[in-house]
Amino acid sequence: MIYRTASDAETIALGERLARELTGVVLLIGNLGAGKTTLAKGIVNGLGAAAPDEVSSPTFTLIHEYGEGRVYHVDLYRLDEAREVATLGLDDMIAGGGLVLIEWGERFPNLLPPERTEIRIHPVGDDEREIEVIRLPS
Ligand code: ADP
Ligand code: MG
Repeated sequence: MIYRTASDAETIALGERLARELTGVVLLIGNLGAGKTTLAKGIVNGLGAAAPDEVSSPTFTLIHEYGEGRVYHVDLYRLDEAREVATLGLDDMIAGGGLVLIEWGERFPNLLPPERTEIRIHPVGDDEREIEVIRLPS
């Protein structure tokens, strides 16, 4: 499925709608400023785990948890080594049944479960985004 949004508010609204169909590991893929964290705000809100304003980028903290294990928001931007990622406990988050949203997860392909959703965000103009949802294996 490919969606198009024309503002950050529309991307949040799309995340709210997508939230209920998402399970397991969801990679949020796109360059800096594409809108990965903005989409996460909508997904977290759509699950009733936290309001969009309460969702901030986990770039420095690595992991934010919302709704007591219902949603994890992970950012691997600052990690370089697979063994660093291995210490985060992604497997436990998944095993606990939480939704695990990961920014920059595609940098560590060997650590990802084959069954996952990839959401690819492509900037089209200043404020337009093409947002593609891909379920693997397809
Ligand atoms: P990322 O996490 O991918 O680095 P952010 O979500 O933190 O990106 O930032 C996206 C930036 O782009 C924000 O400043 C947001 O206001 C802006 N923006 C403009 N149009 C959109 C849109 N359609 N969807 C998402 N963000 C948008
Ligand atoms: Mg981000």
